[in-house]
Amino acid sequence: MATSSSSTKNPSSTATFQVPELAADEMERMAEQTFQRYSSNTIKRKGTGTAIVWFRYDLRVLDNEALYKAWVSSESVLPVYCLDPRHFQSTHFFGFPKTGALRAQFLVECLADLRKNLTKRGLNLVIRHGKPEEILPALAKQFSAHTIYAQKETCSEELRVEKLVSRALEKISLTTTMMASSSAPKNPTLRLVWGSTMYHKDDLPFDARSVPDVYTEFRKSVEAKSRIRQCVKLPMSLAPLPPVAVEDWGSIPTVDGLGLQPQQQVSKGMRFVGGESAAIGRVHEYFWQKDLLCVYKETRNGMLGSDYSTKFSPWLASGCISPRFIHDEVKRYEMERLANASTYWVLFELLWRDYFRFISIRHGNSIFQLGGPRRVEKRWSQDQKLFESWRDGCTGYPLIDANMKELSATGFMSNRGRQIVCSFLVRDMGIDWRMGAEWFETCLLDYDPCSNYGNWTYGAGVGNDPREDRYFSIPKQAQTYDAEGEYVSYWLPQLQNLPKESRNFPGKLYINQVVPLKFGGKSNYKSHAQATTYNGRQQQQNSRGDRATRGNKRWN
Ligand code: FAD
Repeated sequence: MATSSSSTKNPSSTATFQVPELAADEMERMAEQTFQRYSSNTIKRKGTGTAIVWFRYDLRVLDNEALYKAWVSSESVLPVYCLDPRHFQSTHFFGFPKTGALRAQFLVECLADLRKNLTKRGLNLVIRHGKPEEILPALAKQFSAHTIYAQKETCSEELRVEKLVSRALEKISLTTTMMASSSAPKNPTLRLVWGSTMYHKDDLPFDARSVPDVYTEFRKSVEAKSRIRQCVKLPMSLAPLPPVAVEDWGSIPTVDGLGLQPQQQVSKGMRFVGGESAAIGRVHEYFWQKDLLCVYKETRNGMLGSDYSTKFSPWLASGCISPRFIHDEVKRYEMERLANASTYWVLFELLWRDYFRFISIRHGNSIFQLGGPRRVEKRWSQDQKLFESWRDGCTGYPLIDANMKELSATGFMSNRGRQIVCSFLVRDMGIDWRMGAEWFETCLLDYDPCSNYGNWTYGAGVGNDPREDRYFSIPKQAQTYDAEGEYVSYWLPQLQNLPKESRNFPGKLYINQVVPLKFGGKSNYKSHAQATTYNGRQQQQNSRGDRATRGNKRWN
């Protein structure tokens, strides 16, 4: 994979830089070395017949418990991925594309890499367009598979599919000779395996349905009372494939084949490479090659370039890498190089990710609803013009505009940026936070319902933790995190010729500000904002919609 940039620390305004920077063969070599390290020739198969692995948000070979269990419990494994058309429809409330073209491209690359890594270990990947509840039972019947293994999910859309698959499998009958033993049930079963978090759900010191509402309480309790499991070992070979020949494995999709406009290629900023090999390559690059883990805590609030933070999130969200593997690598780094606050802090952040996953179990669909888990009653605007100015990066505030342009162009935004644009949308503009969350759902490469809606409900002050209700002042944030305007002038080149200290506050030399800031700040406010603050009619319709969907899932 070619890189078209020089330095990722101070990228020039036209540079595209690949993440990771490694060449394709280097990524492949790193992945192979890592697989070897985790391979074992002592694992024995104990089952009979065929098992299916249904890949969902676990597009990896390493530390994949569903794949491991399928292998151990069978004589042959059939790996399957379903391109579910529902993933390419519209978001629930506001009808944005559910998957943007950049995330679709990332997925395409993940599938190609997964197929390659499975093939190297004696398997392959069946790729089918359609609903899992239709595809999996048909394959189970065709291949006489006794069990389908898959990673357990926690949000309503995914839970509903799990239920539909289970029900559809009940209608498939296999002759007893096809089954693992004569006493086994006559239909194939779906076995769901936990695998998305660093701490296993079963190892928490409390039931996931009563996870503490305050993150610090959760963290302290987990760190004191739970331990992180080892990654599961890989058999040296995953072969053989089922005895019945697969006539058509299905081709790797294309973005337009998924019904999306094959949007722009990334032509500026970070271009993430999809797949497990790239994910392992990025861990190698960030921890070992560039030695950045030991300064993570000081750099993590940056916004420009690829090296201020790990950038693991797109691969974590698609499951190309497991948080347990990252934990293992942190521990290895601490043994071989050094342990400091930064090495710990990566685990601290990964624990936030776990936390939002468990919160989705505890609070269910309320994380998607206007009032959030605390059912906060508040008036919000759904002013389309204001929203569009935010979405398109035309608010008149360079820090907001630059971040939103980065999101559209690359599918990524820094954590600092996300907090700032979220605060601006909900507090300065007073816009319904779900519009922002759904736009993020469309665009983010790392979109994950738990982390996205968990963070948005926090940012909007409706999250489960009542203490998290913060306002991000743009002047203060700009002063602290982009004092010389390097970030804003990278994404808004028209600011490049201004003195550094004016780039974040260009006054009349930039577009008009669409709203004033809620709390002070330099402003040349001149806008239509007063006319469009709170739209009572839309508000009413909205609460009706909310009641209708509460408890009724967010599935269309
Ligand atoms: P690093 O700083 O290197 O952190 C390492 C890892 O820790 C990340 O990859 C991520 O898995 C985890 N992490 C860090 N911060 C958080 C956090 N606040 N919440 C959950 N996990 C965290 N993250 C997503 O993965 N998917 C989302 O859809 C998502 N939506 C967000 C929406 C908003 C409004 C906000 C404020 C944050 C959101 N985040 C989301 C969290 C966070 O911004 C990203 O995980 C982070 O920016 C990814 O960059 P990184 O991998 O370099 O992070």
